[in-house]
Amino acid sequence: MSGRRIVIIGAGVVGVGLADELARLGERDITVIDKGPLFATGGSSAHAPGLVSRTSTSKFLSDTADYTIRKFQALSTGEGPAFPGLGTLEVAYNEARLQELWRRHDAARSFGWRGRMIEPDEALSLWPIINPDGLIGAYTTEDEGLAASLRAVEAMGERAADAGVTFLGETEVTGFQTTEGKVTGVVVAGGGGGGDAIPADVVICCAGVWGPKLGASVGLTLPVMPMEHQYAITTDIPQLAGNAAREATMPILRHHDIGIYFRDHGAGVGIGSFHHRALPVAPEAIDGHERNVEDGLAFAFTDEDWTEAWELVAEFLPPVADAGLASKFNGIFGFTPDGYPVVGEHPELAGLWFALSIWVTHSQGVARAVAQTLVDGGSEMDLSPADLSRFDERELEPSFFEPRCEDQYRDVYVAHHPVEPGVSARDIRFSPFAERQRELGAVFFNVATWERPQWYEANATLADGLPPLSRDEWSGRHWSPIAVAEHLATRERAGLFDMTPLYRIEVTGPGAEAFLLRMIAARTDRPVGSVVYSVLLDERGGIRSDVTVTRLAEDRYWIGGNGPRDLAWIRAHAPSDGSVALRFISDDVACAGLWGPAARDILSSVTDADLSNDAFPYLTTQEISVAGVRVTAVRISYAGELGWELTSTATDGPALWDSLWSAGQARGLVAGGRAALGTLRLEKGYRAWGTELTPEYGPVESGLGFAVRRDDSEFLGRAGVLERGEAAARRLRCLVLEGEQVVMGSEPVMAGDECVGYVTSGGWGASVGESIAYGWVDDLLGEGDAVEVWYFDRHLAATIASEPRFDPAGERVRS
Ligand code: FAD
Repeated sequence: MSGRRIVIIGAGVVGVGLADELARLGERDITVIDKGPLFATGGSSAHAPGLVSRTSTSKFLSDTADYTIRKFQALSTGEGPAFPGLGTLEVAYNEARLQELWRRHDAARSFGWRGRMIEPDEALSLWPIINPDGLIGAYTTEDEGLAASLRAVEAMGERAADAGVTFLGETEVTGFQTTEGKVTGVVVAGGGGGGDAIPADVVICCAGVWGPKLGASVGLTLPVMPMEHQYAITTDIPQLAGNAAREATMPILRHHDIGIYFRDHGAGVGIGSFHHRALPVAPEAIDGHERNVEDGLAFAFTDEDWTEAWELVAEFLPPVADAGLASKFNGIFGFTPDGYPVVGEHPELAGLWFALSIWVTHSQGVARAVAQTLVDGGSEMDLSPADLSRFDERELEPSFFEPRCEDQYRDVYVAHHPVEPGVSARDIRFSPFAERQRELGAVFFNVATWERPQWYEANATLADGLPPLSRDEWSGRHWSPIAVAEHLATRERAGLFDMTPLYRIEVTGPGAEAFLLRMIAARTDRPVGSVVYSVLLDERGGIRSDVTVTRLAEDRYWIGGNGPRDLAWIRAHAPSDGSVALRFISDDVACAGLWGPAARDILSSVTDADLSNDAFPYLTTQEISVAGVRVTAVRISYAGELGWELTSTATDGPALWDSLWSAGQARGLVAGGRAALGTLRLEKGYRAWGTELTPEYGPVESGLGFAVRRDDSEFLGRAGVLERGEAAARRLRCLVLEGEQVVMGSEPVMAGDECVGYVTSGGWGASVGESIAYGWVDDLLGEGDAVEVWYFDRHLAATIASEPRFDPAGERVRS
């Protein structure tokens, strides 16, 4: 028990679940405050029809849903089960959807459970009023489906109250008390608050769609967009007259292609529509728009947004065409630009946390992870996809995140491809090389706000000369054989890659050396000019990020990381005495990666610097002049080739590109895109953050033991690394698949009928002529063992292989 005073704002499924989790972890001084009556507060949790499914191609969404289901199943309630379950049914009326259902079926296996692909007849036996015309198959699960969310909230609330948690209903939090960058309490109005302030050491805002407004009151932009969502229940359908009155008895039903889901309410059918246009509600306008206080947060049902959905429903469930609507409801819940929740601590107000935009489905998994993070400094489940610090300033501009949130609403049931670019809010941020890239026919894909060349049409002629690779529609989507040509040209001659979007942080000041020694797992107190590859760890020894640390001066370093989460984490641990300054610098620079056997020749022709191995070895840095442009040259390579990352000011970027480009023409230099870089790194076994590397796993099982120091000196996460030791249930493994078929990530790795792991990423290793995948695999299996990777309805033979597949001795980067 910590003795901390914890206040939770919001008694919905998230807030109450979190109070319950914290109490179960030993916290005792917890107060949950809600402006509504307990527990039917009027928030979203009181209205959700309760669809809960753990089938997802996202491990985060699967894991958090799995925990929710298991927790709800174990809850005892007086009235009936908190998790009636009843299973799920998802239908396919065309081949593309059937394939997507196979992908979901496979992903379920990857992340620990089973669903079944079934024939139309069995689907019709589960939902007899489905239109059989054109139905070609379905996916069904048995141990998930329906949660009684309000009942679950009540049961968790009672358990938490028994453990000493205080609940204050009809008490509105109107503000926060803060002192010297810390939260010290909340200000309340009305109800049982017993005054106008409640002191706290930790405050967690679980206020659902009201959260962004509370965040804004303390200067925090939270990219959560409340959206209206229509749900209606039909009058009784004669064909369902045998169903128990008002209770659900049939599986949850989803028709992804029309964006509509269904559950039964006795003989009536509940219909939830994502088919209508996105109907955003500005957070500050929510309360002004409350239409019906008795029903809580409900908006006027707009018939014009329902008509088209209704026609599609009548076609899908023909008996419904003769029914009317017994009830119509227009609730709201929050959407984010990438579909993941927003969870974490305010970057400038210690102790103030937010946990928003969380579905009932994922609520308890997220609550568990937040509670563990607050109590232990890290969680078993990987919370990083939901981290509120994953957004940078440009992503927090409403012009970016609002249209993206609207996309998320419309696309809830769309089959997203792992590498597909975002649709709206494009062309926001280009590197200083963009004009040159456009001249070369760059095909831009975006990650968040960055537009990055995926491949260059100028290289199409190189691809024409290659033997064709067979690709199925899915792996061939958002892909071009040009990427293979760029890959091979880089290995054979040289490639020029745009590395500007690399997330780069400058660390300066007299305290920089000691601070980084504490933050980073490898020794970074090396001589000026050194470059170190290592990891940032959480307290439990899980990997938060992988980084390169370049020492530019006694008191100046660059950290190359993976995103704004790195800066937030480093900043949160930085000394407050002014001895260390941190600055995000990627917007101020241009960075070109010049890699390949001809890289030294090319660069030598535009610099007087001595680039020989003795004068400029691997993993070192120097300031050099490239055709008159001052450049920081770092000898490192994500392609696994001889070469340098060359960083200039943003202004000098075009000149830097031009001089390298013209020097490279006689030596076969090509511009290379992200797709080629992705397969170059796979061949070399370089791990990617967020796919291979996550906080769930430590450096040893990730194959990064070499990036962690073994001496007695302290660093953040050391105790966790020692506790994890060398043993591991799963290890990151390299798989080589038979034939040319590549896999994309999230596919199950199978030994017979047993799932022994899942794929993190895959691609065609053009230089070795192999389909390579990486994945987390049970430690009982080792090199040489045969496995299968399930890819849609195919079972692909694979072998666990030695790694890396290309240049295992690392001679080329050192050549
Ligand atoms: P809420 O339940 O809204 O709780 C937030 C609480 O904060 C409220 O009780 C509110 O009164 C309180 N509060 C706000 N401001 C203050 C303040 N200043 N002071 C004190 N208290 C405050 N999810 C699924 O997983 N499956 C579904 O099938 C599903 N269907 C849905 C259908 C509809 C129509 C709707 C509206 C939502 C649906 N959802 C579904 C989404 C899901 O209901 C929500 O994501 C989830 O309930 C959010 O829980 P919460 O605890 O964060 O928010």
